[in-house]
Amino acid sequence: MKSSFAGLLALSLLPFSLQAADFPIKDKPITLVVPFAAGGPTDRVARDLAEAMRKSLGNSVVVENAAGGPGGLIGATKVTRANPDGHTLLVHHIAMGIFPSLVRNLPFKVDSDFEYLGMINDVPMTLIGKPQLPANNYKELMAWVNANKGNINLANAGLASASHLCGMLWQAAVQVDMTTVPYKGTAPAMTDLIGGQVDLMCDQTTNTTSQIEAKKVKVFGVTTQKRLGTPALKDVPTLDETGQKNFQVTIWHGLYGPKGLSADAKAKLNNALKAALKDPDFIKKQEGLGAVVINDKRSDPVEHKNFVTAEIAKWTPVIKAAGVYAD
Ligand code: ASP
Repeated sequence: MKSSFAGLLALSLLPFSLQAADFPIKDKPITLVVPFAAGGPTDRVARDLAEAMRKSLGNSVVVENAAGGPGGLIGATKVTRANPDGHTLLVHHIAMGIFPSLVRNLPFKVDSDFEYLGMINDVPMTLIGKPQLPANNYKELMAWVNANKGNINLANAGLASASHLCGMLWQAAVQVDMTTVPYKGTAPAMTDLIGGQVDLMCDQTTNTTSQIEAKKVKVFGVTTQKRLGTPALKDVPTLDETGQKNFQVTIWHGLYGPKGLSADAKAKLNNALKAALKDPDFIKKQEGLGAVVINDKRSDPVEHKNFVTAEIAKWTPVIKAAGVYAD
């Protein structure tokens, strides 16, 4: 009697992963759902992350694009309804911090319908324009904007997207209303910008760096306080330097699972994420695109959630003041 109690006690002191190793399921791929079109910034970080996580998890890690809805609502909802076995995850961005204030009748609760698995990166944005624009710097852009009021198109990935948030803040800053053109992600928006079908866009450097470098689009400023170190972007002025003061937006990405993941799956996924954040190949790819890989406590699930809660508090008054919402 005594010894079986001691045995039970010893078992309960074993690390949780030895007691209930339910994850990953052998030979079952892990799917990272991206709520935007393939080839865009969220897709790009997810594909780099999939490659890095595959190394430590052993299972194959695949990306599925489930684009659509305000702020990628379709893909995010899909993950809240997935089997919580740790094999269906969501890579999402700042929309998690603006969903509650921007989307009425949200089909999930950002704080309780997801398992927070840690943050991935911080990404600056760039204000870019179609190559046909006559302007070559921010001053010339503003002259063009003021001369073309009422006829300017601003592309974005739909309501509650990062590009929408940045474009909305920029319109408020310059006090000019523009027509927004929504796409299922900024990859298809970029194709139309390069083709001259839309005039301007604000998007993450992870999508814009290579197009800026190839001179396929014009760049007017970065949304950070300081210039970026990335070789292709180091000569791009901050918007602050151009005279557009106090205009700073940073987009972040995080990893989420549906509510109900086992402690084993949660711990192993967080470990795999942390290994990716230290993986030199992952860091090199991300830094080459102007992103900063998370290297602080926000890679922990609790701090990730605290950060998103703070972002919700930060953006709610801004969105309310802008008077925008989606159903
Ligand atoms: N960059 C997009 C956004 O504006 C999303 C994407 O296509 O990844 O939210």
